Amino acid sequence: MPKILIIEDEPSIVEFVTLYLRKEGFDVVAARDGVEGLIMVKNQRPDLVLLDLMLPELDGWEVCKRLREDSDIPIIMLTARGDDVDKIVGLELGADDYVAKPFNPRELVARIKAVLRRAQTPVGQHLKGILRLGDLHIDIARREVRVQGQIIPLRTKEFDLLHTLAQYPGMVFTREQLLSRVWGYDYAGNTRTVDVHIAQLRQKLPTTQVHIETVWGVGYKLMVDT
Ligand code: CA
Repeated sequence: MPKILIIEDEPSIVEFVTLYLRKEGFDVVAARDGVEGLIMVKNQRPDLVLLDLMLPELDGWEVCKRLREDSDIPIIMLTARGDDVDKIVGLELGADDYVAKPFNPRELVARIKAVLRRAQTPVGQHLKGILRLGDLHIDIARREVRVQGQIIPLRTKEFDLLHTLAQYPGMVFTREQLLSRVWGYDYAGNTRTVDVHIAQLRQKLPTTQVHIETVWGVGYKLMVDT
């Protein structure tokens, strides 16, 4: 039973979400402010955090930033209409998704399940050592990429870039994030390098089921047709 921590200062929302998620089979714990939330992440070890942006003590931005310093725990932000969601998801904060208030509980559950699935997939796939995304298979140990069974020769950075995107299908990475993950934090090049390698990957991979999509003004994500 996945455990969800909701960090939210509005009692009616906490109550409503808790009831609904429990009915859906989740274990739910709640914190009323950012400081309590950070403590509960450590003590309760939730599988996913629902994080309100506007919180007393420490706001959602700060809580998210601190969580991301040392953990990949899935985070869904609860936002108000009009919040700058581009900055929330993937970009500066590194949250996995967001749901705008007022939200439909069914939509919230769908988002939670999708984020949990995404968070768990890489672990299971890594055990087998092969990431299977439609007709694209990545053998991590051998650093081999196959499309429809055919080996596609890739350069080192192309492979690393594809591997990074493929670990989290659907998640948007900024060019800066890709640059630091693939080329390293102290790499002196600019984000244009990322664009060039993405273009090469698109050209080299004859896959019909996997697409590297440009998210305008943000970065890139890898999508798999199902
Ligand atoms: Ca609030």
